[in-house]
Amino acid sequence: MTQPTNALLELKDIAKVFYTDEVETHALSGVHFDIQRGEYISITGPSGCGKSTLLSILGLLDSPTSGSYRLNNVPVEDISAAERARIRNKEIGFIFQAFNLIGDLTVFENVELPLTYRDGVSKAERRDRVQEALERVGMAHRLKHYPSQLSGGQQQRVAVARALVGKPSLLLADEPTGNLDSKNGEAVMALLDELHKSGSTIAMVTHDPRYADFAQRKIFMFDGRVVDEETLHRLRKEEESRLDAQILRART
Ligand code: ADP
Ligand code: MG
Repeated sequence: MTQPTNALLELKDIAKVFYTDEVETHALSGVHFDIQRGEYISITGPSGCGKSTLLSILGLLDSPTSGSYRLNNVPVEDISAAERARIRNKEIGFIFQAFNLIGDLTVFENVELPLTYRDGVSKAERRDRVQEALERVGMAHRLKHYPSQLSGGQQQRVAVARALVGKPSLLLADEPTGNLDSKNGEAVMALLDELHKSGSTIAMVTHDPRYADFAQRKIFMFDGRVVDEETLHRLRKEEESRLDAQILRART
């Protein structure tokens, strides 16, 4: 039997294949790494290399085609669908590039939503927790606004409040600054930093090397695989020269 470890997540040889219209896409191959409890990691790599697919698997929104994923020392494939939904709801917070707030709910209602799926949280407690989460992101003065009445930066701060209102042990952020200018991007990064300092485990996908520097450890991906930084640079260069050669050939 394997010994329990301090890892919150353990991935061994994860592969993910999508089958669409008889086309096989190998989105992930041989992905292998751990994330320790309380650790903050960044995931960087070119568009289409499998970052969002990886986060979906980590967040139990999707399952790997093969390989093993242990969350909290429990093999995920042994967890029932109902229990997965409970874990997703209670233990995992998500932040997306496109904010994904619900347009016909107010700021208050959007942030309250994860708590309404929980048993045993009274209305008064929900109100207090939503208020506290919105104060934390500096949006408590916009309770009754609708998402369309907010700027992008404000919407993302509300989305961060929604992700943290349930006090998740794992926070997954998929390019959380992708639609923000640098001022708002930095504000969101400062919030993530604060969450990390208060004990959250964070995995954040980002394109921006400046933001990757906020993490304690960087993971690099290329074409569905986890690679080291030098390998990523080399593979990128090779890809660029292949593209250049193609363009030259097309011109002549
Ligand atoms: P990234 O987030 O790094 O840009 P993704 O994880 O979104 O990359 O995608 C990795 C690969 O898997 C891409 O080739 C993408 O087209 C493919 N892919 C992602 N989701 C699906 C899906 N639901 N069905 C089919 N192919 C998918
Ligand atoms: Mg993506």
